[in-house]
Amino acid sequence: MPNNNTASDPWAVGWTIRVLVLIACFAALTVPTDILPIISARTGEPAAPVQEGGVFTIPLTEGTPESLPTPTPATPQVTRIGVIAGHTGSDSGAICPDGLQEVDINTDVARRVVALLTAHGWEADLLEEFDSRLAGYQAQALISIHADSCTYPGKTGFKVARAESGYVDRASERLVDCVSRYYQERTGLPFDAHTITYDMTRYHAYYEIDRNTPAAIIETGFMLDDRELLTQHPDIVAQGIVDGLICFVEGDWQ
Ligand SMILES: [Zn+2]
Repeated sequence: MPNNNTASDPWAVGWTIRVLVLIACFAALTVPTDILPIISARTGEPAAPVQEGGVFTIPLTEGTPESLPTPTPATPQVTRIGVIAGHTGSDSGAICPDGLQEVDINTDVARRVVALLTAHGWEADLLEEFDSRLAGYQAQALISIHADSCTYPGKTGFKVARAESGYVDRASERLVDCVSRYYQERTGLPFDAHTITYDMTRYHAYYEIDRNTPAAIIETGFMLDDRELLTQHPDIVAQGIVDGLICFVEGDWQ
């Protein structure tokens, strides 16, 4: 029975192989003539996946889609304030003959300040007098809260001071100005410029924090003549300090 299947015909198989070899040779010879271009995978051409021999090749240049600059989502700047409760974790501060301690007044006021700042939407760190976090501390402002002793009967008033020298003099000056004006406005206490001491202008924290953090110290009042305000109305004391901080960070509104 005659078999017409070419696969079994040696003559036909031979010619099929010859034709295939000729096609392969022709394809190889056309490469140098650029009729069939070879596309480099490391050119500086615009990056686009190219199909070569059925395989997708992604160029490894700066133009790859992966290396294109991606827009960073804008993160809202959170205002951070450091609040030192004077003498906490260290000592009692001034003590009146009846046993009233400065550290207790400072702690009460500082906690209220932190609560008010948090309610305002800011972050606030309640810090101890010699808090380890003060080293290189970074914030929009640092305020240290103290109160004056019982030593001077008849003395009333508050004071705010910054470091006597520093890298952020102008910002700290504005901080002092804001807190002074708004504290006075809120509490009605006079500014007592005559009893600003080296304890205030050479305050240790100024030399520990980051040099770009504006800082000030406030003596909120005298523990004898201003006692009623300090012990009975610490909410007003705290609000006066917070008013000043808001003035400093968000701008004056008076
Ligand atoms: Zn003190």
